[in-house]
Amino acid sequence: MSKYFPVIGLEIHCQLATKTKMFCGCEIEVNTSPNKHICPICLGMPGAMPMPNKKAVEYAIRLGLALNCEIDLNAMWTRKNYFYPDLPKGYQITQTGGLPVYDHPICKKGWIEVTLKEGAVKRIGITRIHMEEDAGKLIHDMSPTGSHFDANRCGTPLCEIVTEPDIRSTEEAVLALQKIKQILEYTQVSHANMENGNMRCDGNISLRASEDAPFGTRAEIKNLNSFTNLEKALTAEMLLQTVTLDAGRVVEQCTKRYDPNADKTIVIRSKEDAHDYKYFPEPDMMRLVTDPAFVEEIRRTLPELPDARRARFVTDYGITEYDAQVLTIDREVSVWYDTAAKECKNPKMLANWIITELLCRVKDLDGGFAAIRIKPLHMASLINLIENNTINGKIAKQVFADMFETGKTPDEIIKDKGLVQITDTGAIELIVREVVAANAGQFAEFKGGKVALKGFFVGQVIKKSAGKANPGIVNAILDKLAAE
Ligand code: ADP
Ligand code: MG
Ligand code: ZN
Repeated sequence: MSKYFPVIGLEIHCQLATKTKMFCGCEIEVNTSPNKHICPICLGMPGAMPMPNKKAVEYAIRLGLALNCEIDLNAMWTRKNYFYPDLPKGYQITQTGGLPVYDHPICKKGWIEVTLKEGAVKRIGITRIHMEEDAGKLIHDMSPTGSHFDANRCGTPLCEIVTEPDIRSTEEAVLALQKIKQILEYTQVSHANMENGNMRCDGNISLRASEDAPFGTRAEIKNLNSFTNLEKALTAEMLLQTVTLDAGRVVEQCTKRYDPNADKTIVIRSKEDAHDYKYFPEPDMMRLVTDPAFVEEIRRTLPELPDARRARFVTDYGITEYDAQVLTIDREVSVWYDTAAKECKNPKMLANWIITELLCRVKDLDGGFAAIRIKPLHMASLINLIENNTINGKIAKQVFADMFETGKTPDEIIKDKGLVQITDTGAIELIVREVVAANAGQFAEFKGGKVALKGFFVGQVIKKSAGKANPGIVNAILDKLAAE
């Protein structure tokens, strides 16, 4: 098989987290009865007049600014016509439309940066972000009366983010999608949950014989709903195109889907042309004229973005790049850590605890990170209690497990269970002497210079004290007795 070089571009659709729909006041509610939130506008009844949702526009601009885009203050709405049973209007209002005169999406010419395995930073262009409305849902549940139609989703606001064909490997594609999902979460414009379908990705891929050859013909793989499926679908398509090119055939431009069971990409249609949709300017709407002051206000109130937060964690809390990376992947985790770290005497130890203890347990927790019962400030107190020698690391693990289960404060748990570390030298010396007496032979060897036995004695004393003896004091007393 010859080696070819992939060229990849992504189209990412995400649902905006507004309370109401894109062009009408209908509420957006999932898991409700079918056709509950509908009106003449989102059903496209003749004569109904759509009005853009200001919050949706604000979210699109916020996203655009976070993706370093230019904002078009005179954006345009176009009508994309097609028939499908989930689309009662017979068209979608969007901001794209074949001819350049119609192409005025709200945001364009942005970029993101991803950090590659070797540590190099790669910039990937964002061609544009446009707003559009979602279609309804067909439910094929094998009922004897046929399939069902639910219009609740009709008119839900979406943003489509289109990247430049700047991506050069499947790993880069995954990193780019991860970064965009992270930015959607940090800006809180979308729940960006791929499993729930409120974020989906189409992967475009073509191959070429060398890194400076012109781009080849692309296939577009629709609706990839996880990072794994994006990577696998692109890999499967690469293999297929390699075989095609090696056989001297040409790759046909087409739209595909990915079948994860067969690990294959399957053609759903040959590429449609823009004229198939008969795009034209939406006659029911004016241009989307935006006040520059509105944009500036959004820019001024832009939240801290993932890269900035990661860098701040490294400088403010003295944690490693790697730990900062892990703690900022998920916005909720980053906010949690940040809140705790501000109150914590040892943010580095706190980071270790979160990564090794908390995040592992969260994996098996129903409801994920949002469902954890430990409050960030209580986690900070736990670390502070270790720092000031009230409890040792071993007891802390016990306390932590209890905090995780019950949501109680560490102070409550320590008090209830009598777990305070023994720092009373006299009390510890009594225990040490008992242990020494019970192991007189070994103590003689220790005294005679076999220092390796010290660990044994410390262990025994800690055990006898039910984990509560302060190890530093135990050590000091052992040294004292050995010198006697
Ligand atoms: P369409 O709506 O026809 O899919 P878009 O402009 O919305 O067109 O998206 C095209 C996507 O395909 C972009 O992400 C772009 O980066 C990518 N792309 C364009 N040309 C190529 C190519 N030759 N190989 C791979 N990807 C490409
Ligand atoms: Mg497309
Ligand atoms: Zn409506």
